[in-house]
Amino acid sequence: MKFKATGLCSILLLVQLAWSDPAVPAADFAWPNSFTRVRLISVPINCGWKDGRPFAPRDQVARTLKLSEQGSTDVDLVEALSEKGWLVRLESDGAIVANPPTAVATGQGNELGTAVVRETDESRMAVRNFASICAKERKVWVKNHPKQALLDAIGSDIARQTRRPIPWVFAIIQDAEPNAACTGEGMVYITTSNLALLDQDELAGVLGHEIAHGARQQLAEDRHEDTRRDKTVADAEALSDRLRAAEEQAGDQYYRDIRDGRSESEAEGRRRQATASAREHYNFSMRTIRERAQAHKNYHQFKPQTDERQADLVGMRLAAAAGYKPDGLMRALEKLQAADFKNYGRRKMLGAPTHPPIGERIKTLKELLQRWSR
Ligand SMILES: [Zn+2]
Repeated sequence: MKFKATGLCSILLLVQLAWSDPAVPAADFAWPNSFTRVRLISVPINCGWKDGRPFAPRDQVARTLKLSEQGSTDVDLVEALSEKGWLVRLESDGAIVANPPTAVATGQGNELGTAVVRETDESRMAVRNFASICAKERKVWVKNHPKQALLDAIGSDIARQTRRPIPWVFAIIQDAEPNAACTGEGMVYITTSNLALLDQDELAGVLGHEIAHGARQQLAEDRHEDTRRDKTVADAEALSDRLRAAEEQAGDQYYRDIRDGRSESEAEGRRRQATASAREHYNFSMRTIRERAQAHKNYHQFKPQTDERQADLVGMRLAAAAGYKPDGLMRALEKLQAADFKNYGRRKMLGAPTHPPIGERIKTLKELLQRWSR
């Protein structure tokens, strides 16, 4: 689902974006005695663990760390990262993430995935949108849910695949109706009932869909379109005002002409001429405005479906790129359909359902998967 802001959000809630612990030089990092995952930039590394230090297969890390291809098959990561001045940190999902120092220090990663994560106007607005939904719909944000760490881990795995340096917040809200939505690039929420239904791959599929909505700037496009539509309405009103003013002026001129001694028919002729030319200008400009209005109508008629198909397709690719099964979203939708949540994602926004029917989506995803596996 894609959240649509129907008005300006007046509620400004400060939500802390706790992305991760600060990065420290690899040599000073308090490496734990055991851990699950290590990532260089965003690439997962299969580490072994010897005498309290992580060792990685040389062929996996040689290129990223600019090591020679020759040497021991396993590389002592603490040593290698310290030598190259890399910075490491512990992410909220328990993964250790290492970044090249230049990218962290300057904030200008030139390689994909090395750019430093930071807030943008869009990501701040996404969080505000979420906060206003919670306030308006009286939803409870569950902050200590036992599956929060899992949600964060899968969500950030997928968000990283977008190769955009945006901090993402994954929130859980209390709701008996399974649902998930993106409120802008950087914010996704999922309901407790939806979370309870899905396994990891299915959750990755659902998160992929939502993250795709944000990463493809669909909500930002909609906001720009709304701004343009407001401008068209304002232009049309200004045009009508100008026509009325011109007609009034022509009327005033008529009485001045009579007072100045012109004949009634001459004054009337002059009035008609002035009015006609004002109307001609009005009609000409109005045609352009009508065309613009029709374009806005078309946009709102076709954009939602296009966006949803794009989110299904892009989301599936993101989830697969992050290492999850590509059929996760399809299976999630099948599960929701079987559990009789046939209206999943079909919440009405501005009178039109936001998503194609669930059966249609499953069919399309199935076809895509078949083409993909060929
Ligand atoms: Zn959607």
